[in-house]
Amino acid sequence: MDFEQFSLDPRISAGIRVARYTTPTPIQEQAIPIALEGRDILGIAQTGTGKTAAFVLPILQRLTKGKLRKVRALIVSPTRELAEQTHQVIRVLAKKTKIRSVTIYGGVNKNRQIDAIRRGTEIIVACPGRLLDIVSDGHLDLSQVEVLVLDEADRMFDMGFLPDVKRIIKLIPAKRQALFFSATMPKDIRQLADKILVDPATVQIGMIAPAKTVSHALYPVPFKQKKSLLFHLLKSTATGRVLIFTRTKRRARYLASDLAKRSYRVSALQGNMSQNARQRAIDGFKNSKYDILVATDVASRGIDVSDISHVINFDMPDTIDAYTHRIGRTGRVDQSGEAFTFASPEDSQMVREIEKTLKTKIERRRLPEFDYAGFKPESQFQGGHSNQPRANSSPKKNGSRNHQSQRNKRYYKKTKHN
Ligand code: AMP
Repeated sequence: MDFEQFSLDPRISAGIRVARYTTPTPIQEQAIPIALEGRDILGIAQTGTGKTAAFVLPILQRLTKGKLRKVRALIVSPTRELAEQTHQVIRVLAKKTKIRSVTIYGGVNKNRQIDAIRRGTEIIVACPGRLLDIVSDGHLDLSQVEVLVLDEADRMFDMGFLPDVKRIIKLIPAKRQALFFSATMPKDIRQLADKILVDPATVQIGMIAPAKTVSHALYPVPFKQKKSLLFHLLKSTATGRVLIFTRTKRRARYLASDLAKRSYRVSALQGNMSQNARQRAIDGFKNSKYDILVATDVASRGIDVSDISHVINFDMPDTIDAYTHRIGRTGRVDQSGEAFTFASPEDSQMVREIEKTLKTKIERRRLPEFDYAGFKPESQFQGGHSNQPRANSSPKKNGSRNHQSQRNKRYYKKTKHN
């Protein structure tokens, strides 16, 4: 199977060659023909599956016909990084066409964005807040939008953008094509999708299980020994690009600076950094100026860096979603990667929930030659998952998660390592 099957405009096929895509990914194979027919799509897929091109290619095909310099497609993203990354995918795939794309998000100069809109564009890739701002100031007319994409809808919801998203939907014509993507489909997201989509086709790729190429391992370790375990692990493992996750911005900053003191080429990536500093960190990681990026969840959303060899969860994620998203950073499209998660005894409930949801037991590892000071990694997190699907296997998301994060909060507060 190749891209020829979609009979795309030759200028778009040329863009696909520029991107060096040879074979459509499963989500592209499923979604592109349906989207080309003009149908609405409910896409359940996480980052790393090739979902961006799955919606960008049909949009470009539509835009090659009809008027230029009129906003005809709107892509709504939860974060600036994802918006910027989508914009870059469009730039490459649309390279041989005259189609333009403009990004709109907060934290950077508004006038530049307004100027870009004035110069004319067919596609807007935007985060909700700044988009509404610019529309309400009268700088952008969405009345001609023919295609709406909501990307990472679950993340948008988590970040509190739902009211903004509803407002945006009211601004575009009722008769439009809508493409709705989400990694997970909790009840609230499904309700939103039901409201927006008309007779949608559902395409689903690896709903909860992370990319198959990733191998996971759990490193049980006392909270206080995490840092020394990390140093040991980095020394004793052949790594390429490493993405490390911490629970707080502060921990990301401190850990990055500790690693830098040990001569690692490292940068932090967290929400307190300016947009420019964040972009510098991502670019530096992409072009190999840094080997390690220490990030928080929100800041890391949508970083599209290929060849990440290792994702290390220095702190256990707060939710199962965050876990699958984080480790979705590695093992992208046909590349293998490893995901290591440091788990302290306090994280046992989260370990159980992740294993229950993924319906698999994550391998436990002990780092040889590391002095665990009496702690026994092999006796941690016993039992729990049975590999047998249960009668009711849906995780008790809210109750138990919140309980866990409350406990974590108390625990983390008590320690001085924060
Ligand atoms: P996404 O899920 O859209 O974030 O895409 C993940 C990564 O896969 C990006 O680095 C894309 O450039 C890459 N990609 C998308 N489609 C293909 C394809 N058909 N062949 C190879 N790589 C692809």
